[in-house]
Amino acid sequence: MPESQPRIDPVLGTTVHIVGGRQSRPNLPDNRSATVCPFCVGGLEAPAPYETRWFVNRWPAMDGDRCEVILYSPDHDASFASLGVDGIGRVIDLWTERTETLGARDDVDFVLVFENRGASIGATISHPHGQIYAYDHVPQRSARLLGPNGWAPTADERLVVVGNDTMTAAVPLAPVYPVAVTIAPRLRVGRLNELGGTARRDLASILADVLDRLDRLHGEPIPYMLWVNQRPFTAGFEDAWLNIEIVSPWRAANLPRYIAAAEIGAGEYFNPVVPEDLVVRLRELRD
Ligand SMILES: [Zn+2]
Repeated sequence: MPESQPRIDPVLGTTVHIVGGRQSRPNLPDNRSATVCPFCVGGLEAPAPYETRWFVNRWPAMDGDRCEVILYSPDHDASFASLGVDGIGRVIDLWTERTETLGARDDVDFVLVFENRGASIGATISHPHGQIYAYDHVPQRSARLLGPNGWAPTADERLVVVGNDTMTAAVPLAPVYPVAVTIAPRLRVGRLNELGGTARRDLASILADVLDRLDRLHGEPIPYMLWVNQRPFTAGFEDAWLNIEIVSPWRAANLPRYIAAAEIGAGEYFNPVVPEDLVVRLRELRD
């Protein structure tokens, strides 16, 4: 059996990648000292000094060099938010370069850039890093978001947290998670490489702002999942609108809301946090 085998549920159409080999991947405790961290300079995955760095994941969820790791900073104790506008801008530059390089492959239709931050949502190494998956198809959710009649920024001012000249950050109308913010350009752009210099900097700036607010929302840094929805490398997605989703399961400090039986069973969600209230709280957290 290959290391990764996609299977499709015959009734629901759900795609599940069976990745038995990942059971043996390393789990490093959060407090493991920087000297043994594989992502610190001199470590297994970072032999030479770097500012940002990418490499092929040793424990891929899919076969065929489709899974990469992105190191945000050589500083083990940094966070994405703490990198500041310049540091986040360098990460965006690397996201952009890897997206276009992977997307140029004949066997890649869609590239997903993402980050899992925090041990409670499965980040196995605390050094600030993200990942990239390059798919040979466009996954269902991504196709809905980025296809015809797909996602576009909200026109409802009550949902907008903050904005600058080219970017806005808003809470979704019907978020699955208690904490959810979506960042997007005000004008339609399909992928990161279409952003000009000013928009690129505005994106770094609003990411720094939103991540900082999220880290202060519950008085301590929250676990979060972040991913970038970009136009697929296949026809039929001409109207795609680039956006970055950030969600957290925390409804209060150290109090995750678990996606539970009725939600998995019925596919409908129950969110105890009113999105309009989350907007108010996030707005109040300005510097
Ligand atoms: Zn490290």
